[in-house]
Amino acid sequence: MTKIETDILIIGGGIAGCIAAISLVNTHTVTLIDKLEEPKERIGESLAPAAQRILKELDLLESLHSHQEQLYIQNLGMQSYWGSEQVHIVDHLRNPDGLSKSLDRKGFETFLRKSAVERGVHCIWPAKLKSSSLNDTTWHVIATSEKLEEQHIQAKFIIDATGRQSHFARSQGIQRIHIDKLIACWVTLPDTEVNTMSTITATENGWWYSAVIPNNKRVIAFQTDSDLIDKATFKDLDSFLEFSKGNLQITYILGKNKTNITFHGVVAANSTRLEQITGKQWVAIGDAAISFDPLSSQGMFNAMANAMQLKELLVMSNIVNHPDTDIDKQFQKMYTKQMESIWEQYLYHKNTFYSAEMRWKNYPFWKRRHHSL
Ligand SMILES: Cc1cc2nc3c(=O)[nH]c(=O)nc-3n(C[C@H](O)[C@H](O)[C@H](O)COP(=O)(O)OP(=O)(O)OC[C@H]3O[C@@H](n4cnc5c(N)ncnc54)[C@H](O)[C@@H]3O)c2cc1C
Repeated sequence: MTKIETDILIIGGGIAGCIAAISLVNTHTVTLIDKLEEPKERIGESLAPAAQRILKELDLLESLHSHQEQLYIQNLGMQSYWGSEQVHIVDHLRNPDGLSKSLDRKGFETFLRKSAVERGVHCIWPAKLKSSSLNDTTWHVIATSEKLEEQHIQAKFIIDATGRQSHFARSQGIQRIHIDKLIACWVTLPDTEVNTMSTITATENGWWYSAVIPNNKRVIAFQTDSDLIDKATFKDLDSFLEFSKGNLQITYILGKNKTNITFHGVVAANSTRLEQITGKQWVAIGDAAISFDPLSSQGMFNAMANAMQLKELLVMSNIVNHPDTDIDKQFQKMYTKQMESIWEQYLYHKNTFYSAEMRWKNYPFWKRRHHSL
């Protein structure tokens, strides 16, 4: 058994967890755990231009640019077939923050983890949250894995950054609210196209997404509701290819690379939030607190911005060193208010965007999304 004492324990070393750890390590002792020994391949590569400001503030931008492996490519923008057959283009050419980035997602997360270690964060992986209890003003957490001995961690404050699972908050009995049932089925393949803009295309039962990622690869995904699709449709590559025949553009791209497609299966992509995003000496951040529809392409930026806002609040309130009840209550109130405001804005934009597509307004996928306006 290993014993650790720390000011702040962050559970989850994804984008939210790493950015929070790097931003807090100059003012607190920080321990960061993740159940995975290394990040895994995952979908979600488009990093909003404004994220550059955060990377710059944390002194990460230069090393990201000069990294020996290609961790990102510049993305000119998005073309969409949404609301009509007419293509609509949104580029970032005049955006003061520059272009958006298409990330090598696994490489980027590995880079963030490495940066956290270099900055002095005590990182432990693989280590999965097993149990936690608050005795007076100290959290006692046990984390386990097959590779490491049991970790007994005492912390003054806990940050749940475990993504959509919100493992810590749920272990405190807090429920998740699910707004819809969106899922995404995705594949990757070599990129052979001349046009490198990302593309979204609406269809009767959902929407297609196609984008170029580093190392001459392309990701293609279909988003729909889990109850609107037969499970067998996304069972394997053959069934996915069969399904994709409904879209000529996608069939064309997939058809050119048939022998080199990697099928990754289905992931949850719905809009969800925790019923309560903070409690006595803990908060949830990133997807653990609120998770977005991929249509927004804002999940990673939100995770980063959320981590930075949290750091400001923690430093300002000094709650970690003075877990006094009044300060804690005040802190919870302010944090909840910030997150509620982000959630409201997100829902408004999501509804506006889905309402711009009326061609299949009587189909369940669209009807559900128009209904909420
Ligand atoms: C289909 C799809 C497409 C997307 N596309 C985009 C996009 O283009 N642009 C964009 O900005 N966003 C996109 N997103 C959203 C984006 O991926 C998320 O918002 C982002 O990953 C949130 O980061 P996070 O750190 O909060 O959570 P996560 O990335 O989920 O990280 C959570 C971490 O916690 C660890 N963990 C989980 N449970 C435990 C436990 N019990 N103990 C210890 N560790 C644990 C996990 O291993 C993981 O490392 C997309 C999402 C989906 C589903």
